[in-house]
Amino acid sequence: MELLDTSSRSLLLAAVLSLPLCASAANPPAVSCPLEKVAEIRDNDVCALQGGDYLSNRRSGKIHGALDLNAAVGDKVLATKAGIVVVAAEKWADMGTAVIIDHGDGGYTVYGHLDEAKVKKGAKVVAGQQVGTVGFTGNSDCLQKNKLPPHLHFGYLNAGKAGLARRDYPIAEIERWGAAWEEAFYGDVLAVGVQHPQMAIEGLTCWAKPQKKPPPKKS
Ligand SMILES: [Zn+2]
Repeated sequence: MELLDTSSRSLLLAAVLSLPLCASAANPPAVSCPLEKVAEIRDNDVCALQGGDYLSNRRSGKIHGALDLNAAVGDKVLATKAGIVVVAAEKWADMGTAVIIDHGDGGYTVYGHLDEAKVKKGAKVVAGQQVGTVGFTGNSDCLQKNKLPPHLHFGYLNAGKAGLARRDYPIAEIERWGAAWEEAFYGDVLAVGVQHPQMAIEGLTCWAKPQKKPPPKKS
């Protein structure tokens, strides 16, 4: 048997080490889209005159600060990154049934108007794991009444610090939809605030602008 010389051995070793790892249950992806499809961002409708984009204004004068992703009732809602579930509750103010995940790096993702939460508070989740289903809870019942499609309200908060799910810390503030988020500090904690959800899933294509209907043809 011919033995490999030192340089051939190190080349072989380098080749083995550079083999790509297969994504499997043991190696979940680092990030996932919040729905199993590229979702259309909610267009203007009677319930939200400016639609559901990040910068859409709300009656309060504040920006929406999240994305409304059109879907169907019962569609799977997935964790975009690994973390710990810090909120899994019904009747979370206007957000209805909501799940919030603490990603441990100061970032939190928010999933609102769920039909059902599929995780419990305290659960550890991986990216791509189902955390709920799309529904019409909270103030999105307006859509149901107007026969419009439901959506996932998907938001990202950068609080700058993990473990802020206690009542007196910033994560609790989103229950009041953006109240006081302009304030930079809560005690000694810097609240960096609501950021574009692209922060949570950088590099993934998970949503698209609403397709504008073509203008009516002249007859
Ligand atoms: Zn929303």
